[in-house]
Amino acid sequence: MSEIIAKAVDVEVLYGNHAALDKINMQVKKGDIYALVGKNGAGKTTLLRLFTGQNAPDYGHIEMFGETGRQALNKARHRTGAIIETPAFYPFFSAVQNLEYYRIQRNIKDKSIIERILKDTGLYEARNKKFKNYSLGMKQRLGIALALMHEPEFLILDEPINGLDPAGIVEMRKLMLKLNREKGLTIIISSHILSELANMATCYGFIDHGVILKELTASELEDIEKSYIKLSTNNDEAVAAAIAENINASAYYSMDDRCIMIPDIDISPSEKISRFVVKSGYDLYSLEIVKTTLEDYFIQLLGGASIE
Ligand code: ADP
Repeated sequence: MSEIIAKAVDVEVLYGNHAALDKINMQVKKGDIYALVGKNGAGKTTLLRLFTGQNAPDYGHIEMFGETGRQALNKARHRTGAIIETPAFYPFFSAVQNLEYYRIQRNIKDKSIIERILKDTGLYEARNKKFKNYSLGMKQRLGIALALMHEPEFLILDEPINGLDPAGIVEMRKLMLKLNREKGLTIIISSHILSELANMATCYGFIDHGVILKELTASELEDIEKSYIKLSTNNDEAVAAAIAENINASAYYSMDDRCIMIPDIDISPSEKISRFVVKSGYDLYSLEIVKTTLEDYFIQLLGGASIE
């Protein structure tokens, strides 16, 4: 069984009568890039702040690196780097000067760390440029560099992609994958836009009104994203059985939808299906290729609510 890096157990956070987090149970395993996805106000920041120690749960508890008590948790947090709010950088300082400032302030002895993390975050070439002249994506990456300064094993990032242009999103995705695959970091990253985290996350937790509605692995989400064929004939049960026997074993008759469903259209293209139905002597009433996008899934999960 893989090691659990961070875990929330029956966690509740209350603001007056309002539960910002309502009996949350979730866990981040070693090696994961865990995408925490939810609309604004869903409870993402509140949950991440529990792991950084900026908030404490009113009920339930959290675990980090297998530790639970207050002191042990604080120690475990030394193995964690985070950006919850944008860190304060001096606009007229370069990236090197800003990081050097924090290195001294945090009493980190190893001077060479700055060069290393600037290289890791792709900022080395621009290391002497003033912070005020950085793009938003570069500013975000400098924030990540700062979070990496004490060489953590676990990285907590709250909406680091928010406001980035498409090129900035690609850069951020590359950086996350590099830190995860090459440096072995476990990462939890939040966003209110699911597609921003696609092709990056290894698992997804969907949060709404302080509740984790669903957790899925990346491959489970990929299955949802796949296209499928939906068809209707004059004898759906018989046709479903015939298709399952002759073309695609995964075809079935859906009583709920009152039609035949064929997942995995790669092995059963629509022309082949329609030809087979007609040749077998049945009437084909309709055939539709349905594609569920990630955003469709997300909206459906949130009960048709809009994302913003
Ligand atoms: P997200 O990060 O998903 O946008 P938050 O965790 O910031 O959501 O907020 C979750 C809920 O808790 C929201 O309803 C928000 O208004 C409320 N909330 C967050 N912080 C506070 C606070 N300090 N005082 C009162 N309510 C808060």
